[in-house]
Amino acid sequence: MRPTKAIVHLDNIAENVRIIRQNLSVGTEMMAVVKANGYGHGAVPVAQAALKAGASWLGVALAEEGVQLRQAGITAPVLILGQSWDGQIALAVEHGLDLTVFDLDTLRLVETHAKAREMPASVHVKIDTGMGRVGMVPSQWNKDWLDALHNSQWLRWRGLMTHFAESDAPDAEFTRYQLSQFLDVIERTRMAGELPPYLHAANSAAALRYPGTHFNLVRVGIALYGGIVHPQLKPGLTWQSQIVYLKKVAAGTPIGYGRTYRTPKSMQIATIPVGYADGYRRDWSNRASVIINRQCYPVVGRVSMDQITVGLPLTAPVRVGDRVLLMGEQGACAMTAMDLAELAHTISYEVLVGIGSRVLRQWDPPF
Ligand SMILES: *Cc1c(COP(=O)(O)O)cnc(C)c1O
Repeated sequence: MRPTKAIVHLDNIAENVRIIRQNLSVGTEMMAVVKANGYGHGAVPVAQAALKAGASWLGVALAEEGVQLRQAGITAPVLILGQSWDGQIALAVEHGLDLTVFDLDTLRLVETHAKAREMPASVHVKIDTGMGRVGMVPSQWNKDWLDALHNSQWLRWRGLMTHFAESDAPDAEFTRYQLSQFLDVIERTRMAGELPPYLHAANSAAALRYPGTHFNLVRVGIALYGGIVHPQLKPGLTWQSQIVYLKKVAAGTPIGYGRTYRTPKSMQIATIPVGYADGYRRDWSNRASVIINRQCYPVVGRVSMDQITVGLPLTAPVRVGDRVLLMGEQGACAMTAMDLAELAHTISYEVLVGIGSRVLRQWDPPF
C-alpha cells in the first residue's frame, strides 16, 4: 500500500479536549466541531474520542455531515453551523440534528418539515454581531421572531448564538465589541420573555482567551486538532511517507519542473511519493522541510502532483524505505501545521483540511 498516510492521534485529541475543558468556566459545555471530516482527521473517530473525553455537543457544516455521525450510532446533540437548504432541512429533522436559522423563511420551512414528520425540530438563532456573513443583524431580531419561535408546536428553540471575526487577533477590541452587541441581544430577549437553554459565541481562540465569551457552550474546532499555537495542545495528526528512491547527483544538477533548484554540490536526492494532489502544496517548493531519522532536510525543486524531492548531504544516513515526516515533530525538528501554513501564506485550518482524500488515514489507537 502507498506509504503516504496521516496517523491521527486520537489520544492527543482526547487530551486536547481535557485541556480546553480545564480552561472553561463552570457549567460551560463544549461542542467539538468536526465539520469537513473533522478538519481532515476523520469526523466519526474524532467525534467519538471527543465525546468520551468530555465534549457534549458536535458541530458540523452540513446536514449530510450530521447524518454521517448519526449513521455511526452517535446520539449526542449535533448542530449544523451553516445555512441549510430544503432537502437538508428534511434530513436534519429526520435525524434529529439542530439547525442554525437566521431568516424567517428558513424557520418556516423547518417548521413545515417538522410538522410533516411529526418530529419537533431544534433551532439555534444566529445573530451577526460583526462577522458580516450569515446571521441577522441585531436590529432584525424582533418580536416576529420571538412569536414564531414560541408559538410553534413543532419548533424547539435551543440556542442563541453569534460568531467572532477576530478572536485570534492580538487586539481584543473588536471581539469586545461583538460580545457587547451579543449581550445587548441577550438582554433584550430576556426582557421580552424567555431565553433558550443555550447561549454560545466562542470558537477555539475565544474559548482559550476570553472567559467572558463562554456562556454555557463553546464551539471548538481547530484547538482540538492542535492547529493553534499553545503550550499544552498536541497535534492531532502526523503526516508521513517514505523514501521511494534515492540517488547521488553531481553539482549543478537541475531538479524538478522548471529547474527551479540546481544542486550546489554533489548530493543525494530522495523522492517521496506525495504531491499537491495530496494537499502537499506547491507553495512549499524550495521552502518546506521534511524530517528523516530525526534530521530536517529541505524540499528542493518544485512540488509536483504526486512527488516531491528532498536534498540531502552525501553522508546523510538514509535509505530507501526510511520514514519521512511531512508534518510532525521528531528530535529537534518540527514541521507543524502552523509552520507549513506560514510557508504557504495561509492558516493551519486550510493545510489540515487540504490533506487529500488519497492520503490514507490511520487512527491511533485504531478505530
Ligand atoms: C468552524 C466553526 C467554529 C470552530 O472554529 P475554530 O476556530 O476552528 O474553533 C465555531 N463556530 C462556527 C459557527 C464555525 O463555523
